[in-house]
Amino acid sequence: MAEKFHFQPTSLTQLRKHYDVIVIGSGAAGMTAAIQAHELGLKPVIIEKMAQLGGNTNRASSGMNAAETNVQLKHHVVDSYQAFYDETLKGGGGQNNPELLKYFTEHAALAIDWLADHDIRLDALTITGGMSKMRTHRPSSLAAIGGFLVTELLKQVQKAHIPLFAGLKVTELTTGDDGRVSGVRATTGRQSGPLTADAVILATGGFGANPKMLAKYRPDLKGMKTTNQPGATGDGIKLAQALGAKLVDMDQVQVHPTVQQDTSHAYLIGEAVRGEGAILVDQHGDRFVNELDTRKNVTAAIDSLHENGAYLIFDQGIRDRAQAVEFYDSIGLVHTGASLDDLAKQVGFDTDALKQTVTAWNAAVADQNDPAFNRTTGMDRDISTAPFFAIHIAPAVHYTMGGLAINHRTEVLDQNGTVIKGLYAAGEIAGGLHGNNRIGGNSIAETVVFGRQAGEQVFKYINEKDTLNLKTRGNNS
Ligand SMILES: Cc1cc2nc3c(=O)[nH]c(=O)nc-3n(C[C@H](O)[C@H](O)[C@H](O)COP(=O)(O)OP(=O)(O)OC[C@H]3O[C@@H](n4cnc5c(N)ncnc54)[C@H](O)[C@@H]3O)c2cc1C
Repeated sequence: MAEKFHFQPTSLTQLRKHYDVIVIGSGAAGMTAAIQAHELGLKPVIIEKMAQLGGNTNRASSGMNAAETNVQLKHHVVDSYQAFYDETLKGGGGQNNPELLKYFTEHAALAIDWLADHDIRLDALTITGGMSKMRTHRPSSLAAIGGFLVTELLKQVQKAHIPLFAGLKVTELTTGDDGRVSGVRATTGRQSGPLTADAVILATGGFGANPKMLAKYRPDLKGMKTTNQPGATGDGIKLAQALGAKLVDMDQVQVHPTVQQDTSHAYLIGEAVRGEGAILVDQHGDRFVNELDTRKNVTAAIDSLHENGAYLIFDQGIRDRAQAVEFYDSIGLVHTGASLDDLAKQVGFDTDALKQTVTAWNAAVADQNDPAFNRTTGMDRDISTAPFFAIHIAPAVHYTMGGLAINHRTEVLDQNGTVIKGLYAAGEIAGGLHGNNRIGGNSIAETVVFGRQAGEQVFKYINEKDTLNLKTRGNNS
């Protein structure tokens, strides 16, 4: 059996005063950026405020989207960048930043290859809402992608000896006399101080766990639970704002339709469960929506039931394809019925209604035609293998599409669209890529695509800066 990997953050006693690059945040965007920068010869540091590493990345369950990958071809899926672009744009209500979207859709396949080059293989495929092709890549063990990715990226961080400090919070970005970003101030809670760097990469994630920011930008979501980790408080957005950074799409907050929230916690039931074939029913036992429509539309359909949520229904065949269900079951979120009658009795559905719903759905799968709701994806298997399962779900705050305005080079822009020199941002902190609705699987892809890009661009920036300094020194001598 493989040995369990344990990562030990760097001791704070080893903190130096200067690094080539300071990367703030230990999610997928931050780790990818640091690894890429290191491979180009720079000396980066990763700073994480929480004791737990990996941010919201740790929680991701379904997968990572990419088109025209070798993995897709091995599964006989012929895809195109253009279709990936068009469907993401459609899903985002046409409001996606075209510059970012073009770079994203044309570099996601390279990001899958880059991960594979680092022994991080995403060889299995599934599908998420709003996509027409199987382009959501995940581990062949079918494990949730987040924990897998964080563990594997931490192994690379360890291998490269990149210092990673936990429990250290960045509270300010500093600038030099030339106006360029020159470092940060950070605190352990007991001790604070400045750290200098040639460039800073913000990879601090979104603000889905900051009730004050949510109330400011989306007062209508007040009181709604969140799927986010407690550190997702939008710090990086505020740090950059203090330097004049421009914010975009701040009112675009994604509410995820399928979140189990009957306990004090909110557990996201990943889209892969529907992607592998689950359906949604109301309290009576009837379907009411194309389950793989965009998150925005599925959420609206659940809300319009006025029934405090809805139920995911699936069978053992689907459960076998969605490993995360084992976890949901282990913490008591799953109702199990030996038959559909049994399940209906337990949950309180109308037995005949549930049976008719499943019969009609199985016929739709057999015909590959869903006359009731025009679902066209996630129809590879029906619901016929006992036992049968139900999970009660309701919408919850999930993802903040808004954030810092960046260009495709991940440079942070000010109010005039001018680059703030030395400041880069990647991952959920950046706004614009997803328009008014993020497609499932596009965020993990965003972290790797733009994390790598940030690592590459700081390398270029620092080299150019050094050349400039040499020239200036030369001219002065
Ligand atoms: C439950 C759940 C399931 C998801 N499933 C999927 C999925 O299947 N596919 C997909 O594409 N997307 C998914 N997402 C979205 C995706 O996981 C995140 O958007 C993405 O991982 C964000 O990565 P990131 O590196 O930008 O930020 P994060 O992973 O959130 O990392 C940011 C880090 O920065 C740290 N930080 C913040 N402020 C400071 C500070 N001041 N100083 C130091 N450190 C700081 C945070 O503590 C955090 O650790 C899911 C999200 C959730 C919550």
